Amino acid sequence: MLYKAITLQRGKESSLERFHPWVFSGAISRYAPDIEEGDLVSVYSHDGRHLGNGHYQIGSIAVRLLTFDDRTIDTAFFLDRVTDALRVRQALGLMRDDNNAFRLVHGEGDFLPGLVVDIYAGTAVVQAHSPGMHFARLQIADALMQLPGAGLRNVYYKSETTLPYKAHLDPENQYLVGSYDTDVAMENGLQFHVDWLKGQKTGFFVDQRENRCLLEHYARNRRVLNMFCYTGGFSFYALRGGARLVHSVDSSAKAVKLTNDNVELNFPGETRHEAFAEDAFKFLDAMERDAYDLVILDPPAFAKHKSAIKNALVGYRRLNAKALEKIAPGSILFTFSCSQAVSKEQFRLAVFSAAAQSRRRVRILHQLTQPADHPINIYHPEGEYLKGLVLYVE
Ligand code: SAH
Repeated sequence: MLYKAITLQRGKESSLERFHPWVFSGAISRYAPDIEEGDLVSVYSHDGRHLGNGHYQIGSIAVRLLTFDDRTIDTAFFLDRVTDALRVRQALGLMRDDNNAFRLVHGEGDFLPGLVVDIYAGTAVVQAHSPGMHFARLQIADALMQLPGAGLRNVYYKSETTLPYKAHLDPENQYLVGSYDTDVAMENGLQFHVDWLKGQKTGFFVDQRENRCLLEHYARNRRVLNMFCYTGGFSFYALRGGARLVHSVDSSAKAVKLTNDNVELNFPGETRHEAFAEDAFKFLDAMERDAYDLVILDPPAFAKHKSAIKNALVGYRRLNAKALEKIAPGSILFTFSCSQAVSKEQFRLAVFSAAAQSRRRVRILHQLTQPADHPINIYHPEGEYLKGLVLYVE
């Protein structure tokens, strides 16, 4: 099917011909006169060749391509895409009795730009990042409920903070299908409450699953500091891994409560764990030397946009330097950046500067990234966002 037309300037079709799913506003020469934000559009080259269909949005990324042919975008289209996505998660072995939390749809990585779907114990939490996906939310919910083998009972829509504010869409967070039944999900045999109603993102950071598993293997007999703990994911893996003590820190009192609740859920009466509602930098300043020998630094994205990269890199350097200066000899440091705008090389350089500043001997043991249920569309390398280093510090 063909939709309202968007025509590109001469020569601007080449990235689409290589299946890059974005059209920048600067590449467009003509818009259909009645075009509105969130519309389905058909994109054409300057000489009238149809290049694909997608969602139109006001801003620097003007179109997010859903197809590179003339396929109609309807419930059947979404069902095909989520069926493909589920097949990948099944192949990854993420749907098990002891694991029912995973990302089903990761935007461009699953050929659905602008859409994120996380699954928690039979509830799908849907986030639209584009007005077009917001308008398609009922078709998406329908497709999810028809998805064979997914066993979904509820679909919760949570886009109040992810849609462009200027679009005035007033997306109300709400159940599109079903209602609340349980908020306890399981990851690798560990349980956690997911607060999709009020929590950050979809309620849990599924993207650290594999990195938390790795941490578990290093935790035995160590004194662990989980900085920026949010719901405490790294903390309960460390406890299961046999840590001597685990301290969780987050500036949000709500996060600290969630962490405590989750520790209690998995390890009732646990005495090795304590959580503190404090600013990371203040905590590190006040921290005694040699108090910890396994530290996790998983801060929020310091650079949300390209313009903020410089300050973000200073932030990463300062944060890592503070930890490196004080952790005990023979320590392990898990350090992350989830800023899409900061490259792997830039982040590594910031950590290198921090190491040099602390004058410690440091080895890189692992270079970490996002897990396979956050796949990267090979034509859209921008989808790689999570970077981590595991360091051995003497
Ligand atoms: N490691 C977590 C995810 C971290 S998200 C996990 O595995 O689930 C980032 C967290 O950093 C948020 O919970 C936020 O409340 C917290 N945060 C933001 N700024 C902070 C600061 N200055 N000091 C401490 N915590 C902060």
